[in-house]
Amino acid sequence: SKYVYSFGAGQTEGKSSMRDLLGGKGANLAEMANLGIPVPPGFTITTEVCTIYLEKNEYPDSILKEIKDAVLKLEKATGKKLGDKKDPLLVSVRSGARISMPGMMDTVLNLGLNDESVIGLSEKTGNSRFAYDCYRRFISMFGDVVLGIEFNKFEHILDAQKTKSKISSDTELSVDDLKAIVEESKKIVLKEKGFAFPQEPEKQLFMAIDAVFDSWNTERAVIYRRINNIPNNWGTAVNVQSMVYGNMGETSGTGVAFTRNPSTGENRFFGEYLINAQGEDVVAGIRTPSEISTLEKCIPVAYKQLVDICKKLEKHFKDMQDIEFTIQEGQLFMLQTRNGKRTAPAATKIAVDMVNEGLIDKRTAVTRITPSQIDQLLHPMIDPKAPQKVVAKGLPASPGAAVGKVVFTSEDAEHWVEKGERVILVRTETSPEDIGGMHVSEGVLTVRGGMTSHAAVVGRGMGKPCVVGCGDLLISAEAKNFKIGDIEIKELDFITIDGSTGCVILGQVPLIEPEISPEIEVLLKWADGIRTLGVRTNADNPADAQKALELGAEGIGLCRTEHMFFEEDRIAAVRAMIMSETKEEREIHLKKILPMQKEDFKQIFKVMRGKPVTIRYLDPPLHEFLPKVHEIQDKIRELQAEGAPQKEIDKLMSVINRVINLHELNPMLGHRGCRLGITYPEIYNMQTRAIIEAACELSKEGIIVKPELMIPLVGHVRELEITKKDVQETAAEVMKEYNVQIDYTVGTMIELPRAVMTADQIAKEAEFFSFGTNDLTQTTFGFSRDDVAKFIPLYIEDGILADDPFAVLDREGVGELMKIGIEKGRKTHPGLKMGICGEHGGEPNSIIFANELGLNYVSCSPYRVPIARLVAAQATI
Ligand code: PEP
Ligand code: MG
Repeated sequence: SKYVYSFGAGQTEGKSSMRDLLGGKGANLAEMANLGIPVPPGFTITTEVCTIYLEKNEYPDSILKEIKDAVLKLEKATGKKLGDKKDPLLVSVRSGARISMPGMMDTVLNLGLNDESVIGLSEKTGNSRFAYDCYRRFISMFGDVVLGIEFNKFEHILDAQKTKSKISSDTELSVDDLKAIVEESKKIVLKEKGFAFPQEPEKQLFMAIDAVFDSWNTERAVIYRRINNIPNNWGTAVNVQSMVYGNMGETSGTGVAFTRNPSTGENRFFGEYLINAQGEDVVAGIRTPSEISTLEKCIPVAYKQLVDICKKLEKHFKDMQDIEFTIQEGQLFMLQTRNGKRTAPAATKIAVDMVNEGLIDKRTAVTRITPSQIDQLLHPMIDPKAPQKVVAKGLPASPGAAVGKVVFTSEDAEHWVEKGERVILVRTETSPEDIGGMHVSEGVLTVRGGMTSHAAVVGRGMGKPCVVGCGDLLISAEAKNFKIGDIEIKELDFITIDGSTGCVILGQVPLIEPEISPEIEVLLKWADGIRTLGVRTNADNPADAQKALELGAEGIGLCRTEHMFFEEDRIAAVRAMIMSETKEEREIHLKKILPMQKEDFKQIFKVMRGKPVTIRYLDPPLHEFLPKVHEIQDKIRELQAEGAPQKEIDKLMSVINRVINLHELNPMLGHRGCRLGITYPEIYNMQTRAIIEAACELSKEGIIVKPELMIPLVGHVRELEITKKDVQETAAEVMKEYNVQIDYTVGTMIELPRAVMTADQIAKEAEFFSFGTNDLTQTTFGFSRDDVAKFIPLYIEDGILADDPFAVLDREGVGELMKIGIEKGRKTHPGLKMGICGEHGGEPNSIIFANELGLNYVSCSPYRVPIARLVAAQATI
């Protein structure tokens, strides 16, 4: 097979669809060349070579010749020769995986310089200062990224020379200074590595290529891949490209830009550039770049060409582009283009705008925002009414607000988060080593860097609130504090940052939930038009129901009635009801509960206005409602000390007896669900009465109600038969009393393996199924829902499980059971409506699965409703 692909100068062999083979950078360089956009010519060594090299620790046989041929072609195209004494070809060597991956070797520039070609460069450009500056940069860069010598060793040489020559800035360095730095740098290489700095350009090239491939497996890269679920076997490509120079005077420059604003999505060219600089200067945040629009004044022709190219690129790729460019003596070259990373609000706005501009269709637009971006749109922001002490302001690099304790290193971030703290990572600037720390932090704050700096780009990608370039901060790494003027903030002090405004605020500021933007409404409406899967919510109070409705829920898929009992003033009545020794006693307490339940249902029905409301009968693990024995014992001791009458003490003793009586060894598998409804029918009867009375009363007011009554934890069809008969009898009784007909249905949860296996029988009795995947996961794995924290993390770490099955639905086990249940259910009850109401109903991967299974709807917590709407649409595309 072919391992090397040339691009530019009319000999382009690749194209953008070859991204798996050429990496993102290589494929798009080829594509730009194909579009007639000026790119410096070069060639790409494929990802396949990387995988072979990493696997076998050697290269395929033909590679040497292919690379040599490609170099020859490049020499022809540029009219220059590697290592030439008169007019040397110089190249950059860069990594480029399928998707951009910080953590890998980035770039070596000016490769091909040596003691001889530096003279050639100097003569050709007539600028020996420039030539020696390139050479000393090359040695330090090569030394750092290829040879693994600490970069600051080279910086020390630079600083020492400046001191020696009594100058303060790099630009004042004379040719002799630079020559001296070159010599010292070469000495460092010899001292650190035991061999001389390689002078043969070909050797330099092969060493750099090795380094790129090896960088695929550095710890940083491995961590990044793990966090982002990137397969280890993808490998990276290597791009070798002829150099162009942005540091050749005032008509030269370099910059990075986005075709639209990556933070807000605004359709305006956005970016930064530096005159007379090399690309790394922009990204490293060493000099402060200028805003892109001012380039129009500096180098007008190149600016206009750049704007035109951006338009062309957007039209071609049909997406917002993130570009790198260099202008060499007035002539523009594109070094990179790729689909730009963007914030969630920007993603939404760009998607909607592009549909309106006719660039993409609605189905495509719906794929342009990820579930986690939707999540970000629902992230908290700072409560504008709260008092805030803004102490500094940086650039608003990644929106959303975050509160946490200050830490100064990635390791500290990870350490404190492990201890349960929330932290804000504060750094001078971030580098790929900080990925792990950024990942666990609530937010990131940096002193240096612009909107395209590492912290900004990575923060946005992760959806972390991020403030960068906050120059007022004076960090002392030793003292573990930072100062802003007189104010000192120590490690583990609380701060709040606002990534939407750039504000840094002392202490913990209260955050509020965000409003949904008009664009996201539009996008989600489009999603609604595309998806076939219904989206309901799990809500057991009017406020949650209202919120879910606003977020687009089409009904309630699960109203857990036991949750209505948790309120302070009710728990006593419920407890008394559970503790009752006789039916009569129980009925007295149930009478007290009835009006409360009825009022709840009325409120919820009102909010839902005719949308289906699935109400699940009481399913409490009883222990959650029982008083604690040791607390009663304490009380008894107190009473005894006070000399209280024996009668009172005896009463408490009998409470203890009852609690002990009700105690279960395994409450999750105990007296709950329909078992409770069968042993104490008066409980379910009370609930039926409350629901139907509420429905009748509203119906009389002209409000439409659609109750769906759901029996939990059914494992045997008889359980459903019995409870359903009770429900129907009580409902009929109430409807007769009110003289109103309510259109209700009775269905069941499918949450036990036996229910699944006998779903054909159960379906004959049920008017709907709702898969309770929480209990179904619990009973399929035999993992107690309440005790998994002790071993699941280890199971995931050891790779026994890929995910927590209580978060991401286990397709192989639980999912297969669901398939059986669906098939059996619909066999005896064609068209039976089925949904899912376990926690998985709001988890993207599980939603896709629910869609595959042909379920009618998913039901999830209110804030996950938008995610479900989006993913349900994406699942069909
Ligand atoms: C379930 O088991 O999936 C379910 C929704 O019910 P609960 O979580 O209340 O047991
Ligand atoms: Mg359940």
